[in-house]
Amino acid sequence: MQQLIRTTVVGSYPFPGWLEYASQHLDQFGPADIEEMIEDAVIAAIHDQTTAGLDVITDGEQTRLDFNLSFYGYIKGISRDETATRKFGPPAHDQRGKHQITDTLTAPRGLGVVKEFQRLKRLAPAGPVLKASIPGPYTLSGRLLPNAEYKDRFAITEALLPMIQKELSDLVAAGCREITIDEPSMSCYAYKEDTKRFVKIFNETVEPVVGKCHLSTHLCFGNFKGRPVGYRSLKPMLPDFLQFKVDEIHIEMANREFAEIELLASFAKHMHVAVGIIDVKNYYIETPEDVAERIKRCLQYIPAEKLSVAPDCGLSQTARWASRKKLVNMVKGAEMVRKTL
Ligand SMILES: [Zn+2]
Repeated sequence: MQQLIRTTVVGSYPFPGWLEYASQHLDQFGPADIEEMIEDAVIAAIHDQTTAGLDVITDGEQTRLDFNLSFYGYIKGISRDETATRKFGPPAHDQRGKHQITDTLTAPRGLGVVKEFQRLKRLAPAGPVLKASIPGPYTLSGRLLPNAEYKDRFAITEALLPMIQKELSDLVAAGCREITIDEPSMSCYAYKEDTKRFVKIFNETVEPVVGKCHLSTHLCFGNFKGRPVGYRSLKPMLPDFLQFKVDEIHIEMANREFAEIELLASFAKHMHVAVGIIDVKNYYIETPEDVAERIKRCLQYIPAEKLSVAPDCGLSQTARWASRKKLVNMVKGAEMVRKTL
């Protein structure tokens, strides 16, 4: 049986300031320097997560710091240059660069997640579950521009799908026992797209590894520079998303002040539920008591053995000092509630 009120995270963790600085001057480093730098950053992310006492940790996605090391850098047939439609003014999704597709899309070297997982396995202490995370094909397609060969976002998604499938199989073969497929674009756009089509894409993606590891998905409403982008309701996802072939679904709740919390009960009938109970967009640091109170509200709809708690999203858009305090208090709050069960 799963740990009661398991404490977990979504994939990303803030880059240390020095890593961000170095990533802007990578031409001054050799490949061995870069590898050492990435290792140091992963060690820092592991340290922050394990000292907080989390049950599940990741590598904090500390490697994805540059085009060449990002998923897009692994995919052949796309241009390195990004074009953003808006370059100035308040931060928002339309400032996120998109890449042109210039040739047939392939990923002859995989997508790099296996290497990330192996590094995490080598550096992490025994104890916590080591989780790998990878974007699903629909979310990954969002920063590629359609062209004559790939006429719309779904055509790009179909092309990326086998690459994700292969990476998932390779992760399991490398000994990975817990994988999150990040598909926040599906939750953001459930209100206007065909949700049955989303489910079909998702299930086809995970098919090769269903039953071979603890599979989860992360659904939020956007967090680019701390800004949401979707219609922030669970209603458009229901009932279709209940058909996702996953062991656990993660949903952003804290920043939405737990709106529609009662709808989590329907998810809990089909799968485990990881609830976002830490607001990654707010610099108010939740106290252990706040966390305990939020968990008790979740327990009204999700049994403790099916409940995991996590931040709303990856922490990459939240300052490290705040991220660290938030994780520490999340674990303390979970322990407080566990003692009462
Ligand atoms: Zn997210």
